[in-house]
Amino acid sequence: MCTPRGAHKLLPFFVERCAKSLDKNFFALYNKRRSIPPVNRVPTERSLMRHFQNYPILIRICALLLLLSGLVGCATHVSRPDHLRDTQGIDVFDSMEETDSQTESAPKKRIALTFDDGPQHYSERTKQIVDELAKYGYHATFFVVGNRIPGGNALSYAVEKGNEIGIHGYTHDQGVYYDTCSDERYHKEINQTAQAIRAQIPGYEIRLMRPIGGSISPDRIRTSPYAIIHWSVDSDDWNNKYYAGISDEEANARIQTIVENVMGSVTDGDIVLLHDIYESTYDATKILLQRLYEEGYEVVTVSELLGDQLEAGRLYHSTYE
Ligand SMILES: [Zn+2]
Repeated sequence: MCTPRGAHKLLPFFVERCAKSLDKNFFALYNKRRSIPPVNRVPTERSLMRHFQNYPILIRICALLLLLSGLVGCATHVSRPDHLRDTQGIDVFDSMEETDSQTESAPKKRIALTFDDGPQHYSERTKQIVDELAKYGYHATFFVVGNRIPGGNALSYAVEKGNEIGIHGYTHDQGVYYDTCSDERYHKEINQTAQAIRAQIPGYEIRLMRPIGGSISPDRIRTSPYAIIHWSVDSDDWNNKYYAGISDEEANARIQTIVENVMGSVTDGDIVLLHDIYESTYDATKILLQRLYEEGYEVVTVSELLGDQLEAGRLYHSTYE
C-alpha cells in the first residue's frame, strides 16, 4: 500500500509518466542535449526535475494535475494481503469483508475435531484430511498410534499446517485399556508413542493424551503429565465405515449418518470424535467441514479450544463439562 507520506518517492515516476504523455520526444530531447550514449540513458530524479522546470508553464500545470490525480488514486487503493487469496487464486477479500461485518456482533462458535487411530499404514488419508481442513483455515487434533508412525511423514505434515498431535497408544491391541492394564504396560504404551512422535517431529511438545477406548483410571488421570481428552460428540464413524461390495446408495447413507451424528448435536465448545483411518470418515469429513463452515463454526485444535483451562492431570470432554 502506498500513501501520500511516500509521495516524494513517487515523484520521478509521475514526472516520467506526465512527460511521456505530453511529449513523445521527451527522453530523445533530453538525451540529445546531454549527449549521453544510449546504454546510459537513465535519467535521475534531480536531472529530471531540472529538465521539468524548463518546460512551458501550461505543460507543467498539466503534469502536476496528473501527478495529484495519481496520488489520490494511490492513497485510496488498499492492497489485498496474500493470505486473503485462496490456493486457487480466488480473491476472497470481498466475501470476508461481508462475513466480518455480519459476525462482528456474534462471537464465533468454536469446536475441536479430533481424529484417532492414525496415521494409517501405507495411506495418505491423514494428510488428505489435513488438506481438507486447510481449505477452510481449520485445524484439528490427531491422537496417534505409536507403531503406525514410522515410515511416513503424516505427523510432521499435519503440524506444519497448524494441527496438533496427541498420544493415543502404541499398539492399540484389543483388550488393552488404561483402567485395567498393568502399570508397566500403561507406561510403555504412552512413553513409546511419545518417542515415536518426537522421532518424526524433534522437540515437539506433547500436551494431550486420549486413552484407548476412552478408558483410564482416575489415579492415572491425576498423575498423568498430559491433559486427558475425551469427547462430547461421537460421530460413530467406526460403526459406519464402508465394507467390501457396498453399494453407492449404502455408502452415501453411511456418510450422511456420520455427518448428522455430528451436526445434530454439535454446539459451541464441543470436542468431536472421529477416526482418520476410514475412507468413509474422509468422505464424511469433506461434507462436515462445509456444513460447519456454513453454520459459522471455527474448527480449532483441542489446546486452542481449551486455552487457559488446559492442565496436565485433568480430564476434559468439552469447554463446558
Ligand atoms: Zn482408538
